[in-house]
Amino acid sequence: MGLSRRRLIKWAGGAVGVVAATAAGGAAWLAAKMRETEHGYTYPESAGLLEPTPACEDSAATIAQTQGPYYTPNTPKRANLRESGTAGQPLLIAGRILTTDCRPVAGAVIDVWSCDAEGVYDNDGFTLRGHQFTDEEGRFRIETIKPAAYTDFGISRTPHIHVKLQGPGTALLTTQLYFPGEADNADDSIYDERLLMNVTALEDGGLLGEFDFVLAAAPARV
Ligand code: FE
Repeated sequence: MGLSRRRLIKWAGGAVGVVAATAAGGAAWLAAKMRETEHGYTYPESAGLLEPTPACEDSAATIAQTQGPYYTPNTPKRANLRESGTAGQPLLIAGRILTTDCRPVAGAVIDVWSCDAEGVYDNDGFTLRGHQFTDEEGRFRIETIKPAAYTDFGISRTPHIHVKLQGPGTALLTTQLYFPGEADNADDSIYDERLLMNVTALEDGGLLGEFDFVLAAAPARV
């Protein structure tokens, strides 16, 4: 028997999986490793690009924006970022992740973070932070709350949601989402109307914020 190595892979959910990679299993270990991104996500086995959506024209990739000073990596994998006692108006963010040639990206990761209803980020734990994967049709749903406007470092920010996204074979995108009709939008130098969600009020008092992301292909490896 050839070289035998043991590797620890930190899974996004916090559990620890042990993978024994032997010479025979090396290819499997490498395949698993390739599904991890620099942010510690692990893509599902079935992740991949699907066929183009019929009658869909090529579209530009969603614009990038700064991640700001409050990103925390290795967030929990969960679809609902609200916990018992989380104040604020419930917000369901839903949409699809597509390629520039309109293919749904299955198994793409979407990592979401925001401040709370008082304009405060949790920089010690994972309050209002978490990531999720798209389904086979490139769809995602994340439940959170509508964050408040805040001013930090002398910069006024209108309410916004921070996101990082990446699919197998796509570039990593870091950007932000915004709410239409906010009085503070006009005073926020980072705000961009191309990142406005389509927001509708739900009967239960919450909000639905819809947005489809378009991801560029990953840069070619040299
Ligand atoms: Fe922010």
